[in-house]
Amino acid sequence: MDALEKLGLIGDQMVLEPAEESDSAPRSGGSVNPGIPSRLSDRARPQAAPVGPNAVAACGHSPAELQRMFGSGENVRDVLTPLTQGKGDPAPSLERKKHSLGIYQAVAGGQRVPLLKTLLTSACERDCYYCPFRAGRNFRRATFKPEEMARVFTQMNQANIARGLFLSSGIIGGGVRTQDKLLDTADILRRKLNFAGYIHLKLMPGLERDQLLRAMELADRVSINLEAPNAERLQKLAPHKFFFEELLEPLKWADEIRRTLPPQKTWKGRWPSTVTQLVIGGAGENDLEILTTTLYGLRQLRLQRVYFSAFHPISDTPLENHAPENPWREHRLYQASFLMRDYGFDLEDMPFAADGRLPLDEDPKLGWAKQNLSETPVEVNRASRRDLLRVPGIGPKGVDAILQARRQGKLQELRDLRALGILADRAAPFVLLNGKRPARQLSLFG
Ligand code: SF4
Repeated sequence: MDALEKLGLIGDQMVLEPAEESDSAPRSGGSVNPGIPSRLSDRARPQAAPVGPNAVAACGHSPAELQRMFGSGENVRDVLTPLTQGKGDPAPSLERKKHSLGIYQAVAGGQRVPLLKTLLTSACERDCYYCPFRAGRNFRRATFKPEEMARVFTQMNQANIARGLFLSSGIIGGGVRTQDKLLDTADILRRKLNFAGYIHLKLMPGLERDQLLRAMELADRVSINLEAPNAERLQKLAPHKFFFEELLEPLKWADEIRRTLPPQKTWKGRWPSTVTQLVIGGAGENDLEILTTTLYGLRQLRLQRVYFSAFHPISDTPLENHAPENPWREHRLYQASFLMRDYGFDLEDMPFAADGRLPLDEDPKLGWAKQNLSETPVEVNRASRRDLLRVPGIGPKGVDAILQARRQGKLQELRDLRALGILADRAAPFVLLNGKRPARQLSLFG
């Protein structure tokens, strides 16, 4: 099996890992939509989609189709370079071909790059209930040696097809042995092949602390998926994973390493960011549980972010008949997590219903404001940064702009806010401008 066929086989099953964020910073308008790789619109109705908005779509191509698309060339560069030079198919078709190999546009390390998102092996000795790669599931597996993966990625990088690498793996021979192979791949790329671009390296359950340190020296980002918000819920998704010992502990180590060791031996002179991911809707958990763990990760473990992946059943797994999760739930959880990370909100500020769930049909920031600011609007000309950040339509950049503008004079009208890049109509029901409610606010409640 050649390298392209292997990548196609793996890409075909990569339905659970969210893409890297499509945007790295909160939007200035304060719509709390930062970095959500989602096409959902707040105005659209939250109908369930077959796969969550963050999910990487399976390509659906068989190996035979891949062979037809790419030929049987052994050298990836020879096959792909003509396509990048306009001698091959038009762009949409090229994008489809890239997706079939696991290449997606992503914002990685602050830059927009085509990212190869793949596995060293799609074989696995574990049996997580939700996972397409679980042991015993009947599909064709593919395995790379570290040198082979490093070589095929380098060819793609030289052909400008992929400029960053997200590398994970199924587990064969235990977490330590599998982690060694991931580390070997990254080491070859960095030291033998001088790859200086973006690498996101997955941490295997059961890895050793020294391996984590090595991963942090080589990668731009490291991550291990908690999968569930607590040990009890994890039992329903992956009964042979250990929540505290295997999954949470490496995230604690990463934080401790960042706090206590100088990043001298790191490839880029700084420690990588750390993230995790939770499956949403596969274990009967509620949003309060999810956000409790999210807040712990953001504040105590200093994770850069927590990813959410709406559960989607995979055929030939124990959860194949479990209902898919509504992708709007994933979206609202992202909004809530950014409120906690960037806007100073706490768990008790979230508009949970009695069952511990967030409303699907409303932005949690708007829900909080309706409950708390409708009767006591914020005076834009005097409010603190913290209070301004709580107003819908005002984000961190908008707050900076208001604080700057207040030094020049009073903000009197909605158009003054609009001139600062603020979503003034969204903010209007919850603010006072120079002691008065803005003229348009009443119509917005209608
Ligand atoms: S250990 Fe990872 S690859 Fe293996 S079954 Fe579990 S989630 Fe899937």
